[in-house]
Amino acid sequence: MKVKTSHIALTEKTTTFLTSTKKMLVNNQWIESEAKKTFDTLNPANGNVLTKIPIADENDVDNAVVIARNAFDLIWKDGIKPAERSDLLWKLATLIERDIKIFMELETLDNGKPLEKAKYDVLGAINHLKYYAGWATKIEGTTIPTHSNKLVYTKKEPLGVVGLIVPWNFPLMIAIWKLAPALACGNCCILKPAEQTPLTALYLGKLILEAGFPPGVVNIITGPGIPTGQAMSQHMDIDKISFTGSTLVGKKIMEASAKSNLKKVSLELGGKSPNVIFEDADLDMVLDSLQWSSFYNTGQECTLGSRIYVQESIFEKVLKSFKEKAGKMTISNGFNNPDLGPMISEKQLNTVLDYIELGETEGAKLVYGGNRLDGDLAKGYFLEPTIFITKNEDLTIAREEIFGPVVVVSKFKDFDEVIKKANTSKYGLAAAVWTKDLSKAHRFANAIDAGTVWINGYDLFDAAVPFGGFKQSGNGKEMGKSAIDLYTKEKAVWTVL
Ligand code: NAD
Repeated sequence: MKVKTSHIALTEKTTTFLTSTKKMLVNNQWIESEAKKTFDTLNPANGNVLTKIPIADENDVDNAVVIARNAFDLIWKDGIKPAERSDLLWKLATLIERDIKIFMELETLDNGKPLEKAKYDVLGAINHLKYYAGWATKIEGTTIPTHSNKLVYTKKEPLGVVGLIVPWNFPLMIAIWKLAPALACGNCCILKPAEQTPLTALYLGKLILEAGFPPGVVNIITGPGIPTGQAMSQHMDIDKISFTGSTLVGKKIMEASAKSNLKKVSLELGGKSPNVIFEDADLDMVLDSLQWSSFYNTGQECTLGSRIYVQESIFEKVLKSFKEKAGKMTISNGFNNPDLGPMISEKQLNTVLDYIELGETEGAKLVYGGNRLDGDLAKGYFLEPTIFITKNEDLTIAREEIFGPVVVVSKFKDFDEVIKKANTSKYGLAAAVWTKDLSKAHRFANAIDAGTVWINGYDLFDAAVPFGGFKQSGNGKEMGKSAIDLYTKEKAVWTVL
C-alpha cells in the first residue's frame, strides 16, 4: 500500500458554491428549513467541515409534498407533453456535461472518492439522463384480445409524487438513476440525498432551474434519515418511495408504507456478492480485475465481490498475486487521484475496524491490511485494503455486509460445492464467475440466486440493463425498460362495443 501526498486546488465555481449558504429547492425556490436547523457535512479526507446543510423536518417534508402534488395535478401530468419532458432531461444532461468538473470536485470533497472515479459517476449520470430522455416519448400501453367482443386497452400512467432516498456511496449517480426514469414517466419528485453527501444534489438543483423544469416538479430536500427520510416514508400523500441503502432501513421503509398509505416501495439494498474463480479461468484477466472488484470505492459499493471463492488448485497463486496487487494500491485524498480514497465517515471506519477485529477473534486469518492509516492521513478516515482467508462460511465477516475494503477468500473443490456456498447468503445482489468454459459459466448463471451475473468481468453497468437484487438485496429493477414499470401504474380500459 502506497500513500500519495500532493494536492490540487479547487476551481473557482466549486469554491463559490461551497461558500454559498445552502438551501433546499422547493417550488423552484431556494428555502431554509422551517425550524432553521442545520447539520455539518464533512470532508472525509481530513474531517473538516465543508458547509452547513438544512435539516428538513416533518413540516418541511409536508410542504414539499403539497408543492409537488400541485405541480403534478396542475402542470406536469397533462400540461407538459412527453417530448417536452424528453427535452428537459436532455438539457439537464448537457448542463451536467458542461459542469462536469464542478460535480467531480464536489463529489470528491463530500464523499472522498478519487477525482477521476468521480468522473465515471458523473458520466454515468449523464448517460442515464440521455437514455431516459429517449424513453419519455415511448411509454405506451397495449390492446388486449379478450374472450368477448370488447375493446380493451392498457395505459401506463405516472404514479404522482415520488420520494427518492439516496445513499452516500454514489451520490449523484444514484440520484439520477431514480430521477431520470421518474421524470421521464411524468412523476413529480422529492429527492433526498444522504446526509453525508448532499452537495452534488444541491448543485444539481441549480441546473434543474437552468434547464427550465416547471416549479414543483423536482424538489430537493436535505437531512438525516430521521427526521427527513422517515417523514417521507410515513407521508400519506407520497405515492412511492424509491430507496437505495441498507437492508435495515429498507425494511423500515416497507413498514412505514404498510402503516401509512401503502405507498409503492422499490428497494436497492445490501449485498455480499460471490466472486467465483475456476481453475480454467484466464488468470491474467482475473488478476487484473481482482483488486478493483474487491476494493473499488474503498469497498463501499453494494455489488463488490466481498466473498471470493478460488478453486483449490490455483488458490495459492491467486492469493499471492492478489496480496501483491493490493499492496501496490495507492491511498490518499481523492484530489491526488489515488486508487483508494478515505471511507465516508469515522463511524463507518469504526464499524469496519470492528468487523476486522471480529474476523480475527472468530478465527479467520488476516493475510493483508487491517489498519487505519496514520501519518499525513491520520485526520481522514483511511483504511488499508484488507484480505482474510477462511474455511468457515459461518463467520460473521463471511456472512454480513461490511461495506468497506475487506474481503474474505476461501477455497472450493468443484462446481456443486461453490454454488452451494455462494447461494447460502441472505443477499442476492450480484455474482461473478471466471472460466474459459462458457457452458460452465452459463450453468453457473442459471444456478446462482443473484439479480446480476457477470461472466469473465466485474461491475459492468449500462443504463439499458436492469439492475436490482434478489432475496434481502431488495425488490424492483432500476435501469433499462424495467425502471419504467417502477414509476408507472397500469390502467386497463374496457369498452363495450
Ligand atoms: P442507509 O440505509 O443508512 O441510508 C440510505 C439513505 O436512507 C440515506 O439517505 C439516509 O438518510 C436514509 N435513511 C436512513 N434512515 C432512514 C429511515 N428510518 N427512513 C427513511 N430514510 C432513512 O445506507 P447508507 O449507509 O447510506 O448506504 C450504504 C448501504 O446502501 C449499504 O448497505 C449498501 O449495500 C446499500 N447500497 C445498495 C445499493 C444497491 O443498488 N443495491 C447501492 C448503493 C448502496
